[in-house]
Amino acid sequence: MEKMVEYRGRAVPLLGEWDTVIVGGGPAGASAGISSARGGCSTLIVDKNIRLGGTAVNALVTPMMKSFTGHHTNFFDIERKLEELGYATRDELGTEMLWFTPEALAQALEELYTQAGGEVLYDAALSDCVVENGAICCLIVTTVQGLGAVAGKHFVDASGDAVLLRAAGAPTAHGDERGNNQMSSLRFEMGGIDVERYRAYVMSLHDTYSIFPRGYFYESAMVGGRGFVLEPLFRRGVEDGVLREEDLRYFQTFSLPGKPGCLSFNCPHLAALTNNTGALARSRAVVQGHAMIQRLVRFLQRYMPGFEGAYLLQEASMLGIRESYRLAGQYVLTENDYTSQARFADGVARGDWYIDVHSATEGLFHHNTYQDGDYYEIPYRSMVCDAVKNAVAAGRCISATFLMQASVRIIPTCLDVGQAAGEACVYAQKNKMPLNEIDGAALRERLNYRFRKP
Ligand SMILES: Cc1cc2nc3c(=O)[nH]c(=O)nc-3n(C[C@H](O)[C@H](O)[C@H](O)COP(=O)(O)OP(=O)(O)OC[C@H]3O[C@@H](n4cnc5c(N)ncnc54)[C@H](O)[C@@H]3O)c2cc1C
Repeated sequence: MEKMVEYRGRAVPLLGEWDTVIVGGGPAGASAGISSARGGCSTLIVDKNIRLGGTAVNALVTPMMKSFTGHHTNFFDIERKLEELGYATRDELGTEMLWFTPEALAQALEELYTQAGGEVLYDAALSDCVVENGAICCLIVTTVQGLGAVAGKHFVDASGDAVLLRAAGAPTAHGDERGNNQMSSLRFEMGGIDVERYRAYVMSLHDTYSIFPRGYFYESAMVGGRGFVLEPLFRRGVEDGVLREEDLRYFQTFSLPGKPGCLSFNCPHLAALTNNTGALARSRAVVQGHAMIQRLVRFLQRYMPGFEGAYLLQEASMLGIRESYRLAGQYVLTENDYTSQARFADGVARGDWYIDVHSATEGLFHHNTYQDGDYYEIPYRSMVCDAVKNAVAAGRCISATFLMQASVRIIPTCLDVGQAAGEACVYAQKNKMPLNEIDGAALRERLNYRFRKP
């Protein structure tokens, strides 16, 4: 007979019970899942989408930003898997960016995770959770069956928006001192581009931004008001009524391995969405983003050399959220930790990306004091809080200030923090202790840093 769970006066079917239950299968959640399953814990990832990879896959965010510090094993396993699947992950210039397509990353993560024995509950949105004595007993999820319960011992919130920790009563913060979040984007891809013609055109304007003068990979950009060589052409688009002023806020393109003639667009910025924590505001921004993409595509087809035969290949099925809710945990990582290259006894991951704020109101803010090889550590205490015993945060929603989150949020760091979260669940299982009481220094011992071979 189907087991039922009592939830707010009604009986909800219990879908199953696992040692580790992870909300969100983005880079952090998938990495946590791989480590938890490999460590012998029965593991379930719950995701509202139907592909692993989260923002990197469903919001079409690529490539992985460059990183010169050591990483945990999952990072290298993912790179190897992408190469096994037939994708070039490294460019000819050795920039340390890791290139991928959303489809390939989703496949790589799903194979690595399921081969480790992990299970996924796709198309299931976390709605609530049941908490007893400060510990989560089960998730309440919305599925095709209606409400269902998912029981577990250890929980990972890798939702990006800290949805589980908030439901469980953990303290969180969001946005800057005025409550403004980082700018959100709705990304898209175009195909049928003559990339060489496009690159030759940009170079003929004496572009100083792109470091890719030749080879398969290419990156280009235009930020309005910053002297980019492409701005006059975009301005013509505005004068002719094809573009609007807001379309010039941010424009950036990246190549996609295995997709010749395609570019991924890290834009448009959704300028009206200064606070992205409202459900309706997010939806309205998506509608605005769809219209902006239509304008940009028409503009590129009509004005940009190399785009004469280009077409819209796909639009993101998920909004690109850089920052929303963050756990207010046992330790709050700050920009001072970036500047001082902080080390912690419970440092379980490393970050070396600069403080990279796409401000909702003031454009771009970059603070970069690192040489290649410099890094700060992320303490385990920034992943847990006192209010919820058996949950750990992973990825972009860990406990950090607004500015510091702008460094932590890149995919390689999210993968490493995710691996630390998965290892924490294995440790908690073996030592029969709650996640928020784990000795982070002992956890650190389990995580060996590896460096990419030169
Ligand atoms: C526009 C943009 C450009 C970026 N550019 C780069 C870049 O070039 N390089 C780089 O390295 N990083 C970049 N980043 C940052 C990086 O992509 C993200 O910070 C990173 O993917 C976050 O990983 P995560 O696992 O913490 O969360 P996410 O990838 O956001 O994953 C969260 C997961 O949780 C799921 N979820 C959320 N709520 C629920 C719920 N209620 N129920 C069930 N599932 C839920 C979502 O479906 C998703 O799969 C960019 C980000 C954005 C938005």
